[in-house]
Amino acid sequence: MTTYSVSPTGLPRGSAIPVGNTERPKLWADVPDDKWDDWRWQLSNRLNSVEDLAKVINLTQDEIDGLNAPDKFRVDITPYFASLMDPDDPECPVRLQIVPRSRELEGFDELMEDSLAEDEHSPVAGLVHRYPDRVLMLVTTQCASYCRYCTRSRIVGDAGAMFNKRDHDAQIEYLKHTPQVRDVLLSGGDPLTLPPKILEDLLRRLRDIPHIEVIRIGSRVPVFMPQRVTPVLVALLRQFHPLWMNIHINHPKEITPELARACAMLADAGIPIGNQSVLLAGVNDHPDTMMKLCTDLVKIRVKPYYLYQADLVEGSGHFRTSVAAGIEIIESLRGHTSGYAVPTYCVDLPGGGGKVPVAPNYLLSQSTDRLVFRNFEGYISTYTEPQDYVRPKRTKFVPDRRHEKGQRGVAGLLAGEQMAIKPASWDVLHERETSKSVNRAIGSLQNHKDVEVTNGHGKPIWTQVN
Ligand code: SF4
Repeated sequence: MTTYSVSPTGLPRGSAIPVGNTERPKLWADVPDDKWDDWRWQLSNRLNSVEDLAKVINLTQDEIDGLNAPDKFRVDITPYFASLMDPDDPECPVRLQIVPRSRELEGFDELMEDSLAEDEHSPVAGLVHRYPDRVLMLVTTQCASYCRYCTRSRIVGDAGAMFNKRDHDAQIEYLKHTPQVRDVLLSGGDPLTLPPKILEDLLRRLRDIPHIEVIRIGSRVPVFMPQRVTPVLVALLRQFHPLWMNIHINHPKEITPELARACAMLADAGIPIGNQSVLLAGVNDHPDTMMKLCTDLVKIRVKPYYLYQADLVEGSGHFRTSVAAGIEIIESLRGHTSGYAVPTYCVDLPGGGGKVPVAPNYLLSQSTDRLVFRNFEGYISTYTEPQDYVRPKRTKFVPDRRHEKGQRGVAGLLAGEQMAIKPASWDVLHERETSKSVNRAIGSLQNHKDVEVTNGHGKPIWTQVN
């Protein structure tokens, strides 16, 4: 029998992931380990001013201007995450994500305050019900550190805009009465910054709702402050399985021994971990960077889940890349490494359209019986369709799904449930005349009178003067 040597942290012994800790800058060299490893100390010693940051990095004028700007998005950086910054390189990918620059205050034409229209899709404050069977539950506006490109910068970081117990009660009440929801994603802000009692209470109340099957937590705390992932926190979370977690890492520099240990603790507690990255100019927009990031994530048992195109929000203008850059990255990953290491690249459609996956084209052509594909190497081959395949009308082995009316979309068209999908105004627009008005028009023409044709709502469409 083969036995494997595994360390108490869950990492394989002799793993390429180093044990020990990230080297600290001089400023914190004398901080005792028990303080440094305490997440409360990390939170209460965050850096947020020119004076603070100048002790750790050599600030550029652009960064000083960004830090001094009066209306900037909140700045707070944990000492641990600050210790990952290169003090001498302003293009350091960690530094770019968290130190403001003057450019983030510059608007751009497409900028929107709430580009994903989350507020419009919120039946109660903080609960975004955009998709048929799942909801996004914003439970706090606080984070351990603040990303300069944050999609929710309109609410995040604002201590005066916290979600309170009354908001949480309303969110839970809505969910109790919405049986089509089977999956709840806790986000914010960052749910792992909540006081443990509040977090546990929310998780318990969600678990008590019979139709909620899966709970997910979206958090950047393991990345900004891996010290927060303690045995006590992990024991709290594991009571509420099936519980999944999505973390947010953008660059391989963020994968440290501390993060690797935090992920190992979560994974050992049976929590599947995915990673969401945002494609950011200067940070991770090179195929080699993404290859290194994705393969390193798999080594610490984190599945690269999504790669997002930057949203059209304040502060993100200088981080935006072309969509073509994202497609090129996926081209450089798919087939070149295992499928586990390839995230789904998507554009979250402005206006609330939701996530749309974007990928290189692999299907080159098709006829009624044959499809032509290419692979990552450019090898072109055919797949012959079966000629006797009959699509099942329904399956007797799975109970009917809990469909939300009106959200079957294109799948509903394929299933023959409806013939077309029309914009709400389509019928009115195409109701160019009623038989009554046409008859009147024809009658008028015959009598050589002035003619006015109206639509079904009495609105003139055209007038002819005879
Ligand atoms: S951790 Fe998430 S919510 Fe918080 S600032 Fe970063 S992107 Fe925004």
